[in-house]
Amino acid sequence: KATNTALFREEEHLQRLTSNVPGVIYRYVMYPDGRDEFLFISPRCRELYEIEPAEVLENSQVLWAMIHPEDVAKMRAIAPEAITSQQTWSFEYRIRTPSGQQKWLQNFGSPESQSNGDIYWDGVVIDITPRKYAEEIMLDYHEALEQEVQERTTALVKANEALERLATLDGLTQVANRRQFDQVILQTWKRSQRESQPVSLILCDVDYFKRYNDAYGHQAGDVCLKCVAQVMKKIAKRPADLVARYGGEEFAILLPNTNLKGACQVAEQIRRAVQAQRLLHCGSDVSRFVTVSSGVATMIPCPSHSVKDLIGRSDRALYQAKNLGRDRIFYES
Ligand code: GH3
Ligand code: MG
Ligand code: MG
Repeated sequence: KATNTALFREEEHLQRLTSNVPGVIYRYVMYPDGRDEFLFISPRCRELYEIEPAEVLENSQVLWAMIHPEDVAKMRAIAPEAITSQQTWSFEYRIRTPSGQQKWLQNFGSPESQSNGDIYWDGVVIDITPRKYAEEIMLDYHEALEQEVQERTTALVKANEALERLATLDGLTQVANRRQFDQVILQTWKRSQRESQPVSLILCDVDYFKRYNDAYGHQAGDVCLKCVAQVMKKIAKRPADLVARYGGEEFAILLPNTNLKGACQVAEQIRRAVQAQRLLHCGSDVSRFVTVSSGVATMIPCPSHSVKDLIGRSDRALYQAKNLGRDRIFYES
């Protein structure tokens, strides 16, 4: 009687334990002939799978049928590995319950091969749906965040480029502005000094431009300046050349690694190309069309001279070109 009471107590104990554990406890067996069945499945089977434990004990296929087909295939694929290693395996998979709910489950199982070839699996299944949904939300959030960062970075890069252009270009003519010219001529001077290379500078000024404005208006004057700047850019086209608006209707063309002869050629080409635009200029004393005068100077930088000397020489040459009648180039070596 004492033994019976003890046994009864133990069974009651086990019942309570398997009902209280927050998951489904099972013993599943695979037979050598390919059949399988559940030898035990705990009461929480009702809650998780919405099915009576007795039904599962009767036919294991009712559980297999709930598993997402993709996951069934994966589960079957990894089982042999666990059997060989006799290690506890864990697998996450999706099921659809009889009422149509989709759930994520995690199954932990320990395989144990019996001497007759049966394989027992003792394990527990828990519902991990809330965790999976949270993970999905986090993943979506992460992706959205990454995309936003990407978009903002692109916008920032574009804004920086625009800012860079604004800071270095002349708004009207779209050639380099005075600020950019001042920086570049200094760098060019230093580099040319290290390399003992000549630097040439052309200062190019529109002839009788005040009269042009007076005759055609300031807006027409602006259009004329844009046109002259474009002509210059087309001619001074080496990567290192720099066309800049030096001020008003005066442009500077910086030509690194260019000797006086080469610079004079460029200046003369510009003079001709501007005239070839045939921009009518009724106020000019030298031509029916818009013309330019240029002062050209070339120096091989040395410590006893500076950028100022180069600019001074070009400026004096320009003055000479104007004095000698305009629509011409003048050079000082
Ligand atoms: P010179 O042949 O001696 O160079 O005579 P000039 O009339 O061209 O020279 P001056 O320096 O007397 O006049 C330059 C004119 O250029 C005066 C100014 O109004 C005009 N100017 C300067 N900047 C601009 C501009 O951005 N747009 C327009 N339309 N005119 C400008
Ligand atoms: Mg002028
Ligand atoms: Mg001028």
